[in-house]
Amino acid sequence: MAALSNSDEYCPPESDVFEHGHGHFFTKKTFHKPTYCHHCTDMLWGLIGQGYVCEVCNFIVHDRCLKMVVSPCSSIACYLIKNPVSHCWSEPGHFKRKFCNLCRKRLEDSLAIRCEICEYYAHLECQDFVVSDCKECATYVPTKEKNTVVQYHHWREGNLPGNSKCLHCKKTCWSAECLSGMRCEWCGVTAHAACYRYLPAECSFGCLREILLPPYSLTVPRMDVPMEMLFGFQKKPFAEEFSSSGDSKTEDEDRRSSKEREGRDRDRDRDEDIVRIFDGNSSLKKRIYRTVAVPKNVPAQVLLEAALRTFHISDKPRNFYMTEVTEKESGEVELDLKQPIRSQIKSRDGKRPAVFLRYREPHPDRGYIRVHPGPALSNLSPQATVHFKHVPVTSDTTVTETIAKAIEKFGSEVNSEETDPSKYKLIEVHLDRGVSEREMDPDERPLKTAQESRRESLRQYRMTRFYIKQKEDPHGSQIAMFVGNLPTSLSQLQYEKILLDIIGKENKWSGFDVIYYEYGALVLLFSNPETATRAYNICKERTFDDKPLLVLLLPNIQPQMIPDNVTPLLTLVNVKSGGQQGMELIRSFRKLLNPHQVYDLMNGGPLPGLYVFRNIPKFKILVCGGDGTVGWALSCLDNVGQDAQCQSPPMAIVPLGTGNDLARVLRWGPGYSGAEDPLNLLRDVIEAEEIKLDRWTVIFHPNEKEHDETKVAIANDTNAANTNEDNTSIFVMNNYFGIGIDADISLDFHMAREENPDKFNSRLHNKGVYFKMGLRKMVNRRSCKDLQRSIKVEVDGKPLDLPPVEGIIITNILSWASGANPWGPEKEDQFSKPTHYDGMLEIVGVTGVVHLGQIQSGLRNGIRIAQGGHIRIHLLGDTPVQVDGEPWLQPAGQVVVLRSALKATMLKKSKNKIKRRNTEPSIYFPTDSLQPQSPSADPDSGPL
Ligand SMILES: [Zn+2]
Ligand SMILES: [Zn+2]
Ligand SMILES: [Zn+2]
Ligand SMILES: [Zn+2]
Ligand SMILES: [Zn+2]
Ligand SMILES: [Zn+2]
Repeated sequence: MAALSNSDEYCPPESDVFEHGHGHFFTKKTFHKPTYCHHCTDMLWGLIGQGYVCEVCNFIVHDRCLKMVVSPCSSIACYLIKNPVSHCWSEPGHFKRKFCNLCRKRLEDSLAIRCEICEYYAHLECQDFVVSDCKECATYVPTKEKNTVVQYHHWREGNLPGNSKCLHCKKTCWSAECLSGMRCEWCGVTAHAACYRYLPAECSFGCLREILLPPYSLTVPRMDVPMEMLFGFQKKPFAEEFSSSGDSKTEDEDRRSSKEREGRDRDRDRDEDIVRIFDGNSSLKKRIYRTVAVPKNVPAQVLLEAALRTFHISDKPRNFYMTEVTEKESGEVELDLKQPIRSQIKSRDGKRPAVFLRYREPHPDRGYIRVHPGPALSNLSPQATVHFKHVPVTSDTTVTETIAKAIEKFGSEVNSEETDPSKYKLIEVHLDRGVSEREMDPDERPLKTAQESRRESLRQYRMTRFYIKQKEDPHGSQIAMFVGNLPTSLSQLQYEKILLDIIGKENKWSGFDVIYYEYGALVLLFSNPETATRAYNICKERTFDDKPLLVLLLPNIQPQMIPDNVTPLLTLVNVKSGGQQGMELIRSFRKLLNPHQVYDLMNGGPLPGLYVFRNIPKFKILVCGGDGTVGWALSCLDNVGQDAQCQSPPMAIVPLGTGNDLARVLRWGPGYSGAEDPLNLLRDVIEAEEIKLDRWTVIFHPNEKEHDETKVAIANDTNAANTNEDNTSIFVMNNYFGIGIDADISLDFHMAREENPDKFNSRLHNKGVYFKMGLRKMVNRRSCKDLQRSIKVEVDGKPLDLPPVEGIIITNILSWASGANPWGPEKEDQFSKPTHYDGMLEIVGVTGVVHLGQIQSGLRNGIRIAQGGHIRIHLLGDTPVQVDGEPWLQPAGQVVVLRSALKATMLKKSKNKIKRRNTEPSIYFPTDSLQPQSPSADPDSGPL
């Protein structure tokens, strides 16, 4: 029983039914297992004929709910998307307790894919029919102002968090039994399918609105590259590897798996015909087909209807016909639908019979094409509901004429000045596993294009649409391309030469925006998307000095569009920190926030994100990683700060891994355990208070006459914050500076870790030179015994009389070596109570390894030596030192520690935790793909 009928004989092909209806192909069914209604989530009662099921998408519904169904069938879902946006697919995997958004069945044990930025799931075998309706993350339109722009909910059906309540009727709206319920991908609001249309269409972004980068403030480069590339995801594009998997099989696969199925099929073959269906010439060329089983001796009509459903086509069967697949180009004979299949086709070489499913062109020389208004026209139209119009065309109608006709059709809704057809072009868009575009030639004949496309593949044709686009990119066409992994500290001319050699003159950029000399990175600007695409594709395959170039396409923020009460959060995640947790967090944050405000530090470090945010007058930063990662982000901020609108954005931390002394001091805790809902982490950031953090400059000045390899190594190490001709090196210190025993032990630890360089990623990550150098020195390393004799310390101009010690620790914060406090609790003495913003450092002594251990376990404190803001140290011999947990062996010379002009604004987690009510829609991401963690050395652990 087709729930919808359209008796209009003159309606255009693939008639307008889907503009109004849900498109399901319902038939009555008796269910033998407990079954639930996808519309209302209640169980289906009774023994026979309890409800209806859609033969295309398996939507199950009560008799009583049948008339109310609103969820569209997979057969029409792709027509309903206004602005198609491609998903970002994960690697195939097993996802528990989830349902396929296409066939609505459980993912169970079959391989499936999920979108990395929205809650879309699909079986691998269903991916041919995936609907490209991911959330629109960059929707800036120049004609709209921030006071007039409206954000709508982005509804996604099913896979709701447990215990979701409907915002409209306040009742439970999730189900563990079927794909049902709706959830907004932005604000997390949930509702019944029956209720969501009663909610206001406008979306407020929910509880994260204060830190969410609004999509209407963003543009992304219009380029023909996969979405994953635009997001800078570090994974191989997916489509290539799986182009012939799933239900559509290639003949090879069929042969391979046929043995296993033989037994099962022998029984089936007795009473069923299994037929291979090709949906067009191109599918035959690629040998991609779907199999359909029908009872033996039924008329071919039955096969035709089954074939349509397997290709998710809910159009009328009379618009289609079948022919036997032959190798000959001509002479396709149409099958008689009244006769059984077997009598009309033979299966050759024992292979299963194969047929073409063809569209019956009602008129070879005239028809309709479906034209979508595209963002250009639809933004001028107040009626956002007009998804497309059918434009009549003949075989002679050109693209130019079609554009004029289409504009006329949309004309009643658009401003007359904007309707000049010469301003527009017609784009053919393919939604097949992504979104790709082709600009049509003005003299091309759209009817011919459509007819040819239908003969090549019906499935692909259904994924094809035409839309009208402005010739001039209204966003301006400046494309920013970040290139990293170049040698550091060259001149602009040298960088230009390197890049021109790689990219080629014909693909030259239009300008350099910034050069980060210290990091060997820069941003190129392109004004032409095609040139940028070519340059991008060249760069990502190339290496320089044996290092693969790092290349990223960056979005463009329009700061004037950010509402005054919004402080966007730039989220920097070190995915290598804390085992799998960094990876899990970045996934959650991409879904909770705008994915364009979330950056993977393993892909270019903090610079790309800081560059993208450079024009925002007020923003916050969240660093997910250890203290080393925080230091890395701070030092990049020091570098880009001068050019940025926001000089000192406050920084919050989600501590990953171990150590995390700075995070502890700022109440972010010793390390994220994975237990807390990522949504709550973000709420903590919103509620956190700003606080200043003193920072310190440590200047190492080796004695002139020494000219050993150490000095050369330091001088050559460009990652040292600054190195000038006289071999002075300068570091910024945020947490602590150690001399002697603790640095010595850290050095051992770091060298052990170096054997596992993959795990070692921090701001000094290519300081490998130190470790190699250290290793050589270690062989005959000196004891730190009587350190007081080999160093001289002066604080604020006064020389200190050092007690017998093996180590000295100078701290800015009151946490060291994973939460220990060498300074100790408050007591009556000449020293004032230390803070991390008082402009003073605390100096304590450690008598030896045992004492160090006691401080670490909280049994004893260090020996308080001094407090002060300016420290000068003479190293009389080579001495192990460490700055913020990065150790090395420093040759004899002078060390000066003084207050840095660079202060950091940090966010301290609020003490009075606001009790959160559970009634608010909360967004929960189960850690279903968490793997058991192996304890591993972490780059960000403290000095011990
Ligand atoms: Zn129902
Ligand atoms: Zn359906
Ligand atoms: Zn499926
Ligand atoms: Zn998506
Ligand atoms: Zn919403
Ligand atoms: Zn409801």
